[in-house]
Amino acid sequence: MILVANFKMNHTRASTRAYINKLNEIELAPNMRLFLFPPATALDKYESIATIGAQNAYAAKSGSYTGEIGLEQLEEFGIETLLLGHSERRHIFNETQELIAKKFAFYQEQGFEIVYCVGETLEQREAGTTFRSIKHQFDGIDRAYEKLIVAYEPVWAIGTGKSAKAEDIEEVLEFVSQITPAPLLYGGSVKRGNIAEILSIAKCDGVLIGSASWNVEQFITMIEIAKEM
Ligand code: PEP
Repeated sequence: MILVANFKMNHTRASTRAYINKLNEIELAPNMRLFLFPPATALDKYESIATIGAQNAYAAKSGSYTGEIGLEQLEEFGIETLLLGHSERRHIFNETQELIAKKFAFYQEQGFEIVYCVGETLEQREAGTTFRSIKHQFDGIDRAYEKLIVAYEPVWAIGTGKSAKAEDIEEVLEFVSQITPAPLLYGGSVKRGNIAEILSIAKCDGVLIGSASWNVEQFITMIEIAKEM
């Protein structure tokens, strides 16, 4: 079972360290993996029960890419895990499928573990093009990459407090499982109240949690619920 915490643009280096120290007090179930994606300024060489990854990185070791970080900056902290394709990168920062695929290929070449996000917008769902749009988000992506984890995150469910229905999640995860053998996560307003139901969905290997993971006590409560399952 995989639980991922995405801090987005929240937490500082100091509060990330305090968060990780608190998280380290718990014990994980043997089948459990935790991932934590702090903002770039909070990356460091932490002792952690969670795998620490970067929320974004450019497809180069170093160079003239103002505002970006690349392989050299990640190597400094031993980071070997990357979140790619998040809908906020796609929709707020206009990352194209071509750019995302370029980043994917570069970090795959470096042997990074990649948590890759796909998901439809509300318009696409209402137009009945959910599957087509998700399939397009695999263009240029090596879906057989052995260090790939895929997160299905309907855009309309991210940060809205409104999770997708269990039957809709199940239907999409079934579809995605035909595209890739990678472990599959669901993300979109996962919280204490719905994590158990979501984790019991067929083909759901874990969850990607945004806002409900920012408070370490809340995240620990969700880990404890997952451990019971
Ligand atoms: C996310 O950051 O990918 C996410 C799912 O956020 P939230 O849990 O806040 O909906």
